[in-house]
Amino acid sequence: MSSLIGKTALVTGGSRGIGAATAIRLAQEGADVAITYVRGEEAAREVVAKIETAGRRGFAVRADAADAGDAAGAVERAADDLGGLDILVNNAGVGVLGPLETLALADVDRVLDVNVRGVFLASQAAAARMGRGGRVITIGSCVAQRVPGPGATLYATSKAALIGLTKALARELGERGITANVVHPGPIDTDMNPADGPFAESQAAGTAVGRFGQADEVASLVAYLAGDEAGYVTGAEVSVDGGHAA
Ligand code: NDP
Repeated sequence: MSSLIGKTALVTGGSRGIGAATAIRLAQEGADVAITYVRGEEAAREVVAKIETAGRRGFAVRADAADAGDAAGAVERAADDLGGLDILVNNAGVGVLGPLETLALADVDRVLDVNVRGVFLASQAAAARMGRGGRVITIGSCVAQRVPGPGATLYATSKAALIGLTKALARELGERGITANVVHPGPIDTDMNPADGPFAESQAAGTAVGRFGQADEVASLVAYLAGDEAGYVTGAEVSVDGGHAA
């Protein structure tokens, strides 16, 4: 069923991993989709080609979520070029893991700039352009709910902040018919967290189902939240984590 026909969307960090899968899925459901990227120009082009293969309009904007102008500017550009904005997926994120004493000030700034400030600014810009039925969907993390071991102080701090942002956005935008939700993926097989990486075994063991998830399994949840059927879901933390938090 195509539930997003006539909708317009921006997926930040849409060149790879969860963002790429989400952008393609939203297009398959009928949305025109813009994506942002930083390094992966070629990868972004391939995602745009897949959006177009789905019969929808797609384009990629180079926009660093750590840059305040870029974070809001990408939203403006998407809304201008697509003729409005119905769906913002705040997906771009970085992870710097390691013992507390090894985290430099530059790491703290980088992670908070991309994972928190960029999400705030993009959401603010999107809220100004969205009408009734608007959707702000933010990719959090299972570590915002349950931290399975040491080394995640900075990353977990950044992802937990998105819960507060999402709940406050839901309260602020609800009367305008706009929802805001945060999706918490568990370990998902991407470049950031490959299923054959050094810490993969313990992560898989920490889930109830005993395996990594696939990016498509996150994308399908985002597509549901983006659709009209999810109009009564807002301010929610929704897990797609194989039972990591169970
Ligand atoms: P990947 O590293 O595989 O992909 C990250 C994507 O974000 C790429 O498209 C990259 O673009 C883009 N990106 C990175 N930095 C920036 C930036 N500063 N500005 C704009 N775009 C940027 O990550 P995942 O797909 O695994 O992760 C996506 C989201 O899901 C992140 O928020 C992550 O924290 C979260 N998450 C992931 C989990 C996992 O296990 N994989 C688990 C829980 C949450 P480019 O390559 O062009 O630079």
